[in-house]
Amino acid sequence: MKVLVAVKRVVDFNVKVRVKADNSGVDLANVKMSMNPFCEIAVEEAVRLKEQGVASEIIVVSIGRSVAQEQLRTALALGADRAILVESADELNSLAVAKLLKAVVDKEQPQLVILGKQAIDSDNNQTGQMLAALTGYGQGTFASNVEVSGDSLAVTREVDGGAQTVSLKLPAIVTTDLRLNEPRYASLPNIMKAKKKPLEVLTPDALGVATTSSVRILKVEAPATRSAGIKVKSVAELVEKLKNEAKVI
Ligand code: AMP
Repeated sequence: MKVLVAVKRVVDFNVKVRVKADNSGVDLANVKMSMNPFCEIAVEEAVRLKEQGVASEIIVVSIGRSVAQEQLRTALALGADRAILVESADELNSLAVAKLLKAVVDKEQPQLVILGKQAIDSDNNQTGQMLAALTGYGQGTFASNVEVSGDSLAVTREVDGGAQTVSLKLPAIVTTDLRLNEPRYASLPNIMKAKKKPLEVLTPDALGVATTSSVRILKVEAPATRSAGIKVKSVAELVEKLKNEAKVI
């Protein structure tokens, strides 16, 4: 079974992001970039499927600038077999990304596509769902467990107040939640080996996809800074403050 995994290059989760002075976006100058954490979980799941003998080939795909090759090489070091970069310097919205992924799906014909549930930079949480709509494949989103049996897939999903298990006919789309697995680290020998694995560079034009956006970002602002809290000495004082200062009870 061929597995396609979508990985996005994002600002590292440890970085405190700064908004550009002109409010046009997030300042990326000299900022550490990494693979989106949910995409790391997606790669790990694919590697585990390969280790179980379920997956035969893992292809990782990223859409973005040439520097996203770094994250593709990381995925190759973690166990993917080959990589595809769809190179574009444009600010792409989710629908454009989903259309490009659909073109890659058409080209590669994977049986399973794994994406993160969301990218931690834009927090969109919609690319996997859009890809499912474009391909017509079943989707198992927010997966905390994935089991393949024959030509179907059981996905346990994290839903409000519990877990739901759905059965999908392959080919299918899965998006990963935090509890699906704990990603491994790449070993030094594997990082070296990954340098020799194939990495194909495509363009939206070559895939026949127009990426013009119908959404324009008007302004990006940092959240308002919260004023410092205080400690009260007793429940009575708390109630008094809620009543007379905050006037909420
Ligand atoms: P989002 O819908 O933007 O929150 O992203 C959800 C998931 O879609 C990510 O975790 C990735 O697996 C995939 N994805 C989004 N943008 C890209 C991109 N530029 N390149 C590759 N995969 C992406």
